[in-house]
Amino acid sequence: MNQKSHFSFFANRDLDLKQIKVIGYDMDYTLIHYHVTQWEEKAYEHTLDRLIQEGWPLTHLKFKPELTKRGLVLDLKRGNILKVDEFGCVNLASHGTKELSKEDVETLYGSTLVDLGDPYYEFLNTLFSISTGCLYAQLVDELDARKFKEALSYRSIFEALFKAQNLAHLEGRLKDDITSHPKKFVDLDSKLAETLLDQKNSGKKIFLATNSDWSYTDKMMNYALDPFLEEGMGWRNLFDLVIVAADKPSFFGNTQKIFSVNSEENHLKPHYGKLKENSVYHGGCALDVENFFNVSGREILYVGDHIYSDINIAKKSRRWHTALVLRELEQEMSDLEKYQSERITIALEKEKQNKLEEKISHYKLKRLHLINYHKDKPKESLESLTTKIEGLEKDLKVSSEKVAYFTKILKDHVNSPWGFLMRVENSRSLIAKQIAKHADIYSSRVSNFREDGPYRHFKSEPALFPHDYKKLRELEEINS
Ligand SMILES: [Mg+2]
Repeated sequence: MNQKSHFSFFANRDLDLKQIKVIGYDMDYTLIHYHVTQWEEKAYEHTLDRLIQEGWPLTHLKFKPELTKRGLVLDLKRGNILKVDEFGCVNLASHGTKELSKEDVETLYGSTLVDLGDPYYEFLNTLFSISTGCLYAQLVDELDARKFKEALSYRSIFEALFKAQNLAHLEGRLKDDITSHPKKFVDLDSKLAETLLDQKNSGKKIFLATNSDWSYTDKMMNYALDPFLEEGMGWRNLFDLVIVAADKPSFFGNTQKIFSVNSEENHLKPHYGKLKENSVYHGGCALDVENFFNVSGREILYVGDHIYSDINIAKKSRRWHTALVLRELEQEMSDLEKYQSERITIALEKEKQNKLEEKISHYKLKRLHLINYHKDKPKESLESLTTKIEGLEKDLKVSSEKVAYFTKILKDHVNSPWGFLMRVENSRSLIAKQIAKHADIYSSRVSNFREDGPYRHFKSEPALFPHDYKKLRELEEINS
């Protein structure tokens, strides 16, 4: 298996790191990766606890991470979870925890295009959404089984879940669990410290902008970076500026209040005027960062894992360059490699089907012309054309069955019942479209910068259109 490609950065657009003066990082699931199942199970338990305390009869529920995946969409009108392609068409769906048949998907969504601007759709933006999606699916089942006394809707159960989740985060018990047992929850990356150090030593300025508070940030960064730095160095030495409680996505918008953090006493003081080097601030905004480093947005690269709050808004509001961290890419690429022969078979069969369809259309048109224009002198009998068409249609059916067989193998064996993260059959998934639109580059982990160093010029691949593929195939046929 070619492991090197799994640990690369991939470019949607050209990005020359030599032109980047400042690199900013998000923390959770960007610099620090968590063991997703453990972290999300803990988040799930705390949210469930809150709901149970409020009187919801949910003590029997258990965390099932396979129910959901980043990049899926919750349909709060119908209580469904959707896998959507780049055009907004629904490809797979479940109602609560139950998978919907192809026919049901067609009936419900055949004439609908999912638009994330519609408030009834909720996009699962990060790995932190796994517990949200799982609990939502289970609450839908409970609502359908009439387990709740109150009259609730598929939307109001999501609102209750969202509120309970925020309260669970706010009350601090969840983060206390994480900081008390970091080994259980944090997936350490021994190459991360060296990667950041290389960037700093190359002359780039480095900053942290996280939504987490100072106390949690300090403990987590300390755990993840300090053991890999030389004696006498701490994680703070790597960063020229630290912003906690950044409140992204608002951070990328209008001016927000900023406080200086007394890092020893975890005490906040309102701050006015210029920011100071090597300091910790609570709040503030992207403009403060640009002013502090005296750079324009085009000289900043921001690295995060949240497709909306880190990447979409940073690019749209500030024109910062963006890098997305997508840890699932390692599993995705490994699955793609493992099932390469099945995927090639499907692709070849689809190409064959395309040619068969082309021939069938050709003979059908010929038959039509024969009926309408050549009644007296038919060159080819109607009967022989019909036999040809029937033969080709039979081949098409055999090929379709073969594709269905191999598609099922893929579906049954790929790590998630929701299939590949970035793909929906022949198209890109909705999340893949979001990534292509908002992230200049993407990779599974920050330390993948290490191999390329801080001087790399990432170049995107040339765009290929259907007419390019047609031409390429023609050339292949000529040369074969
Ligand atoms: Mg994050």
